[in-house]
Amino acid sequence: MKDILAEDFQIVVESCLDRNRNILDTLSKYQMASSRLSRAVTKASTQCGCITVSGKKPEDDQPTGTNIEGELCRNCRTVIEKEMGDVLFYLAAVCNALDLSIYDVLLKEKNTLALLGEYSLK
Ligand SMILES: [Zn+2]
Repeated sequence: MKDILAEDFQIVVESCLDRNRNILDTLSKYQMASSRLSRAVTKASTQCGCITVSGKKPEDDQPTGTNIEGELCRNCRTVIEKEMGDVLFYLAAVCNALDLSIYDVLLKEKNTLALLGEYSLK
């Protein structure tokens, strides 16, 4: 079922990419989408203020966290979800261009993480 959703997403992405299919353009658009996602998260903290992000180094005796306090407001959540959607769109487009299955990529990464656990160090 989940593989069908991922495959369907790749098919929809493919149908939307009828103008420019150059892999270099797609890769640069993926990077731009990723940058916009980072910017949206930053703006949630610096302009909206619904979340507070700390750059403080964690203490040695405390577990590492996300350094985020608060919850996204509805507006910031909507913007961030839209930017994440764009990242997924261009990631799927890169997969399409290279004839890769995004579901297979997800599954391999999940299996690697399950195998390495905390030693994956990501
Ligand atoms: Zn907000």
